[in-house]
Amino acid sequence: MTAIKAYAAYDAETPLKPFSFERKDIGEKQVQIEILYSGVCHSDIHTAKGDWGPAIYPLVPGHEIVGKITAVGSGVTKFKVGELAGVGCFVDSCRTCHSCKAGDEQLCDEGMTGTYNSYERGTKTPTYGGYSTSITVDEDYTLHISDKLELSGVAPLLCAGITTYSPLRYLKVGKGHKVGVLGLGGLGHMAVKFAASFGAEVTMLSHSPSKEADAKKLGAHRFALTSDPKVMESLANEFDVILNTVSADHDYNAYLNLLNTNGTMIIVGIPSTPAVIPAATLVMKRRSIMGSLIGGIAETQEMLDYCAEHNITSDVEVINMDYINEAYERMNKSDVKYRFVIDMASLKQ
Ligand code: NAP
Ligand code: ZN
Ligand code: ZN
Repeated sequence: MTAIKAYAAYDAETPLKPFSFERKDIGEKQVQIEILYSGVCHSDIHTAKGDWGPAIYPLVPGHEIVGKITAVGSGVTKFKVGELAGVGCFVDSCRTCHSCKAGDEQLCDEGMTGTYNSYERGTKTPTYGGYSTSITVDEDYTLHISDKLELSGVAPLLCAGITTYSPLRYLKVGKGHKVGVLGLGGLGHMAVKFAASFGAEVTMLSHSPSKEADAKKLGAHRFALTSDPKVMESLANEFDVILNTVSADHDYNAYLNLLNTNGTMIIVGIPSTPAVIPAATLVMKRRSIMGSLIGGIAETQEMLDYCAEHNITSDVEVINMDYINEAYERMNKSDVKYRFVIDMASLKQ
């Protein structure tokens, strides 16, 4: 067993606090990773606060993990000690269902094993995430990380990056497409970077007027303030694709009306209240709504390689571990530029 320092939510109400636990000895096909940076995703907040139902407490969040391999099991062939490695939102899946075989392990029929708030397959041992000093993961669920990019900016690619890259690729977004990105936070800022990089014309749809200059720096061609009814009216039937990253409850219909004929709204944000959508909103313009969940291991590696080649990283505010509760409060107020990333050295001190 290895003793691990971490931060955990002990319940849905109180702030996160220090927590210690033990990880099992490294298995034959596992790698042990010393965590250097861990990104802070809004899903960490939803889970810790019980927005999606009761969590397994104490809960150690964190599924945007980068670090250095410190040990490998005897059967490991893909990684060596000393190499950089990444872990995203899941650490295992059934490996045999249609989705797993197709490389969509995140959509596993039996449910993926989450990096946190799950149990290790076939056991009652909870999985603990990246707000911790070290993690042990099967090599098949571990990603290779290039040493070309600034590591703190790479961590958010493991969730915010793949969650926005995957559906844009699925819809073959590129030159000639008009894309609206709804919500400029962790996911939204990566969506702007990818959509612009793929050649689309990108409009930032935001309810925060202060983010206009940043949206343009990130690659958006236009900024539209969604709280201004005149702006919303002027954008009716405008977009081929809207990537909806909003974390809070909101009216989908106002944004569906901005889709042109055959337009698609990709839902990646996961508010807790179900939405009501009148049939006519979809029927009258042959619009559709699709959901998308992160991405499989092979596609995540493809995305990481794409980022290394095109020099794409997340814009981050690096924080110490003990700033986490303030970071959560700021994210709930949409005050993040554009991803908090924990420097795990601050937990080791
Ligand atoms: P985030 O960094 O906190 O950003 C969310 C953004 O949503 C805010 O910055 C804000 O942008 C907008 N927003 C917040 N409250 C709003 C409101 N009341 N009305 C309108 N807009 C509002 O969150 P994130 O980490 O990007 O995550 C976003 C969502 O995606 C969360 O629900 C998360 O759980 C989910 N998620 C899903 C997946 C998946 O695989 N599907 C993966 C990761 C995360 P503006 O200030 O620009 O309006
Ligand atoms: Zn996430
Ligand atoms: Zn499966």
